[in-house]
Amino acid sequence: MPFDPPADADSRRAIPPVICYPTDDLPHPDLALYRAARADAVRTGEVLVPPRTAACFTVPAGHFFRITSVQGPQVGDLNLWNASDLTERFYSGKTRALHGTHLTTGQRMWSSFPHLRPMATIVTDTLDWYGKDAFGGSVHDVIGTRCDPYTGNLLSGGQYHHCCHSNLTRALADHLEISLEQAELHVHDVLNVFMCTGFTRDTGQYFMKASPVRPGDYLELFAEIDLLGGLSACPGGDCSSEHSSDTASCHPLLVEIFAPSADALTGWSRPPANGYDRSHGR
Ligand SMILES: [Zn+2]
Repeated sequence: MPFDPPADADSRRAIPPVICYPTDDLPHPDLALYRAARADAVRTGEVLVPPRTAACFTVPAGHFFRITSVQGPQVGDLNLWNASDLTERFYSGKTRALHGTHLTTGQRMWSSFPHLRPMATIVTDTLDWYGKDAFGGSVHDVIGTRCDPYTGNLLSGGQYHHCCHSNLTRALADHLEISLEQAELHVHDVLNVFMCTGFTRDTGQYFMKASPVRPGDYLELFAEIDLLGGLSACPGGDCSSEHSSDTASCHPLLVEIFAPSADALTGWSRPPANGYDRSHGR
């Protein structure tokens, strides 16, 4: 039984919220510069990620990478690491605290402590028209974690091996020629590319629904530092039903890398590591 509400319950509930981290205070990316650099950039490579697997790719600082839906609706789970220091990796929780539950153009993927700097900036999102739907759903979330075999085992006792967590583990192990045990420790919470998610209004539960992505849609990012990326083509396909089995219809995802011309980024520099001195009061 819940406690009886106090006499001033309604007035307490009526207090308006305060944004925790006003983004006006964040360093803003120069999107006009990035787009001008992208205009004459040349494609330098591509990786096709088959369904229910993951692949790794590298993107030098100052280059672009594009994730494209091909063949059919498909969501992707994206991990990012500093290419020369895997302990610096995408920080989903802080990115969510800064930008909100879903990312779109102009927003950034921030890295873990003690670095806390932009790793990548979204320059184009062909699904930016979606906004928020009537259920509170939106696209490209940083609220889910990544589908994984541990939660699946907890809920249904199975041994499913092609969740995004395992796909990313195998891909990183192969890319770095390290063991699965070593690789697994580096896999982290993702940007859910193209996934449409939200929280239910009544119970606050995490929900997913069929992604609005269609072949040809893409998300393009600018690499602020040298990046190692891992992308899993989720076994959930468009995530309209389930995501820890082989029953969903799945499709590949295409990753392409683009290099701008030598002088296209004049005025831009790699973001420095965070300015906190790390003395922690001692
Ligand atoms: Zn997944």
